[in-house]
Amino acid sequence: MKYIDEFRNRELAQGLIKKIVERSTRPVKLMEVCGTHTVNIFRYGIKELLPETVTLLSGPGCPVCVTPNETIDKAIALSREKDVILVTFGDMMDVPGSSSSLAKEKSQGADIRVVYSVQDALKIATENPKKKTVFLAIGFETTSPTVAVSLIEAEELGLRNYFILQGHKLIPPAMKALVEDENLALDGFICPGHVSTIIGQRPYQFLATQYKLPCVISGFEPLDILQSIYMLINQIEQDRAEVKIQYKRSVKEEGNPLALQKLYRAFQVSDSNWRGLGLIPGSGLKLRNEFKNFDVEEKFPIEVGEVKENPDCICGSILKGIKTPLDCPLFRKVCRPENPIGPCMVSSEGSCAAYYKFRQ
Ligand code: SF4
Repeated sequence: MKYIDEFRNRELAQGLIKKIVERSTRPVKLMEVCGTHTVNIFRYGIKELLPETVTLLSGPGCPVCVTPNETIDKAIALSREKDVILVTFGDMMDVPGSSSSLAKEKSQGADIRVVYSVQDALKIATENPKKKTVFLAIGFETTSPTVAVSLIEAEELGLRNYFILQGHKLIPPAMKALVEDENLALDGFICPGHVSTIIGQRPYQFLATQYKLPCVISGFEPLDILQSIYMLINQIEQDRAEVKIQYKRSVKEEGNPLALQKLYRAFQVSDSNWRGLGLIPGSGLKLRNEFKNFDVEEKFPIEVGEVKENPDCICGSILKGIKTPLDCPLFRKVCRPENPIGPCMVSSEGSCAAYYKFRQ
């Protein structure tokens, strides 16, 4: 298939659903760990098309949602400094921190700029040599190589006013944490297509060998997702556990070696704190010693007050797949896209936003 319409073909979708219904003989819980999958599962009504034996759970696949308040509070504290230009992707603007948000700070005069690419942050630093440009580096393996490239370029240019506030996270260690959660008892993973384009197939192998969990790296169109579900159920019914690539038009077994080489030239693996999941060993990145000068936290102390979470928001449990937005008493009543209480309602890839938009 070549054109996008073909991946949304109704007859082919019906054929795949029929195959899933025929193949599925026992209850299974599958989790998607990519926000784009979550959104498209709701957009195309995929949950409603599946037999009762198949339960889909949404995991921590939205980088905005898994960023803890502590990181947001640090970004807010930095934005209040007179000589700082805080640069971010737009979806972080409305995420509530402990007592404010970047959008509120901007409305009160902070120099916060929204960009579409980290290269824009580099340009801002070059054009404003008297100010510190700090890029809020949030994202998974999909975006972190581009940030690494910006740091390599900044080093080559001798830029000394460009910094990052580090919030990158790695997906496979979070999947390990989820598998080890007894409350979930997952039967398989729909693995993220974008992340896997960078990291390839191998980093998921431990899930199949150690935990006997089938994994399928999936594309994002409805037929991709349905085919991936069928591939997972097929493995489960045969008591097999392998890592398979459904999204072959983008993902290679070895991933993208050049992107990985750039990524690990600037960064090394570290532990990281996730909203809802807590501290996960080896699930984050920190700058290598030779790039430490770009780490804003290394260079300047950042004072934040007490880190607070809204006690009524259950984003943490939703990100773990143990609750859904429908379990949240604030959903729709108080928390809506125009008045988000938690990050899962802010981000277009968040579960609460997907439920709000598509599950009427
Ligand atoms: S509906 Fe709002 S308050 Fe409830 S979990 Fe989602 S983001 Fe948090």
